[in-house]
Amino acid sequence: MLKRSKEETILFMLGALTILSVLPFGIVRILEGNLILAAVDLAIVFMIVGIMLFVWVTKKIRIASILATIFYSVGMLASVYVKGHVIVYWVYPTMIAAFFILYATEALLINTISLAALVAILQDRMSPLDLSSVVITLVLINLFSYIFSHRTSLQHLELNHQAELDFLTGVGNRRAFNRRMTELFRPQNARIDAMLFVLDLDHFKYVNDQFGHAVGDQVLVKFCELIRSRIRAIDGLFRFGGEEFVIVAMRTDADSANNLAEELRALVESTALIVNYPVTVSIGVAKRAEGEGSEAWFQRADAMLYEAKQNGRNRVCMAP
Ligand code: GH3
Ligand code: MG
Ligand code: MG
Repeated sequence: MLKRSKEETILFMLGALTILSVLPFGIVRILEGNLILAAVDLAIVFMIVGIMLFVWVTKKIRIASILATIFYSVGMLASVYVKGHVIVYWVYPTMIAAFFILYATEALLINTISLAALVAILQDRMSPLDLSSVVITLVLINLFSYIFSHRTSLQHLELNHQAELDFLTGVGNRRAFNRRMTELFRPQNARIDAMLFVLDLDHFKYVNDQFGHAVGDQVLVKFCELIRSRIRAIDGLFRFGGEEFVIVAMRTDADSANNLAEELRALVESTALIVNYPVTVSIGVAKRAEGEGSEAWFQRADAMLYEAKQNGRNRVCMAP
């Protein structure tokens, strides 16, 4: 079976709940001979079944969510128009449901329009005081839902951001690197000059063995601070794994990349990351070639790193 997204599941659950809660009323109203109200109820059920089928087949969840919210709102307003203020309670769950399937601002917009329509429908059928109560409670429900939904979105963004940071050093992790690569290989970015640096600390196992793992960790943290202080913000530094890092330098030609790599290598060598022990780094560099995929590009830079290690470490090798 196809895997369904969280949004699809929510929409299906809302759809199922709507059918379960509206269909019995439709049937009872047919039995009572109240055909207009039955038609409104059954129309809501048919529309929601239609939307569920649409999502099932096309997976176009955004369009379906907007349509569903509009249908729910129109159905709810039609019910109130036909039956009057006695079913105004249905407006509350309908408005809250919008916040579950839309962005907070969209839900608020649709609900505000619905509320204006509701006031127009009910103004001659309720006392001003009762209508004010309905309006004020609906405004409050919308405000609370908006704040809640907005706050959830912010937390979601923050979680996504945290999920892309390396816990120890605070630089981007492998997931962030993969996303950067995916972006860089979109058709609109395919022609941007980009250089890939693969950096690996030399004899790091020895550092751990000699000074302990905690000192090794501190070296990784300071190394990242040092590199970050020298590269541009748009050139991401990512921890690829262990003591291996990558830099994706954007809009950089081969000469500047070579200079930068050499400068970074010398900077690490000349900085006392551990007192009285020279920590050094080897760097492999490759320019993105036309028509090349991300993996081939990475392999070329990695091969240059291997060459730098073979040639004695603490050096830069650049792909021809
Ligand atoms: P080379 O110059 O060939 O790269 O030698 P190396 O010793 O750096 O390479 P190797 O791959 O043999 O060892 C890498 C070491 O990095 C082993 C591992 O314990 C250490 N390491 C990986 N991740 C961490 C970490 O998060 N903290 C610490 N302290 N050490 C780590
Ligand atoms: Mg190493
Ligand atoms: Mg390594």
